[in-house]
Amino acid sequence: MGVDHIEATVRHGGRVTADDALELYHRAPLPLLGALADGIRARKHPDRIVTYIIDRNVNYTNVCVARCNFCAFYRPVGSGEGYVLGFEEIFKKIDETIALGGVQLLLQGGHNPDLPIEWYEDLFRAVKARYPEFRLHALSPPEVIHISRLSQLSVPVAIERLVAAGLDSIPGGGAEILVDRVRKLLNCYGKASASEWLDVMRHAHRAGLRTTATMMYGHVERVEERIEHLVRLRELQDETGGFTAFITWSYQPEHTELGGDEATGLEYLRMLALSRIVLDNFPSLQASWVTQGGKVGQLSLAFGANDMGSVMIEENVVRAAGASYCMDEVEIVRNIEDAGFVPKRRNMHYEILGNPYFRTENVPRVLELAVARADGDTSRPPEINRYAARSAAEKKARLGGR
Ligand code: SF4
Repeated sequence: MGVDHIEATVRHGGRVTADDALELYHRAPLPLLGALADGIRARKHPDRIVTYIIDRNVNYTNVCVARCNFCAFYRPVGSGEGYVLGFEEIFKKIDETIALGGVQLLLQGGHNPDLPIEWYEDLFRAVKARYPEFRLHALSPPEVIHISRLSQLSVPVAIERLVAAGLDSIPGGGAEILVDRVRKLLNCYGKASASEWLDVMRHAHRAGLRTTATMMYGHVERVEERIEHLVRLRELQDETGGFTAFITWSYQPEHTELGGDEATGLEYLRMLALSRIVLDNFPSLQASWVTQGGKVGQLSLAFGANDMGSVMIEENVVRAAGASYCMDEVEIVRNIEDAGFVPKRRNMHYEILGNPYFRTENVPRVLELAVARADGDTSRPPEINRYAARSAAEKKARLGGR
């Protein structure tokens, strides 16, 4: 089908095929892609509201056995730079988040072999006991798989236990590109194959959880494989309806084993618009200002995004790979309003919570994102000794901690 024909299909609310999407990627000018994506955004969100969430992106550990070659964040087991956050440290981060109007933690971390499911359950229960209304958007599908393997539980049982302890929703991280050829090249097939990632989301949706979905492009994949990724997400969304939003970003190459160059801003806008067109059953698309910067983040609102994501407060993973952008609530709202939209705070379910928090509450400006821990602080949290370790290094350390 030619571009004109596909354009007419999209303008009339029709669904594009993978071949149509490939044709659009290669032949449609960027302004046309943007106009088509913006038309879909306007149909789905006719009130010109652009949402954002105040939450904090906390990485509970950087110790990881997965060793994805695109990741600059992880440290191997036994590394002197490895850390696990203590429960008290996490409570302090929650207190700081609530003071800024925050409503949840986005809690993700490495695949640490020395944290059994009981550690997560105890943490979630402790958070819910102290902060009953506070939400835990936690554990991407590969982490759920890691926990289930470590504790020798099926994925549905692991999810059931984590939900019983306080898990509210699952972030769509670790998807990278949902094509096994690519996953093998990125050394992330072992942590989750494409079908395993999708299966965790299927089980989560069946258990009543809402989740997001992501795509990291611009490394070893072909354009056809990006589109295959989008189509697989669209198929699962047809089946379950459990995804709230989609977020895409470009691979951040600095300090990674894989190396290479970062995709450009225009490539990002092209992929964002194409995603909005293909994912016709996803209610929301987020702008990834944390990888693209605030200015491209703002432009995203004309290329299909209806949400500015999170104010983040803290960030460790993207920063480790060389990108460090910060926008607090004031700056996010300024960018939304300057683009002609109405800013509203939301929760993970995209329910509107209200107008900008800083307009009625006296909150400090945040001009730099916090980190998990101060540089060089690898202190051991006291409660860690209560849990069974798997690695030889950690078994020894825990014995010493008794
Ligand atoms: S991307 Fe996640 S799973 Fe992969 S090495 Fe980094 S922390 Fe580990």
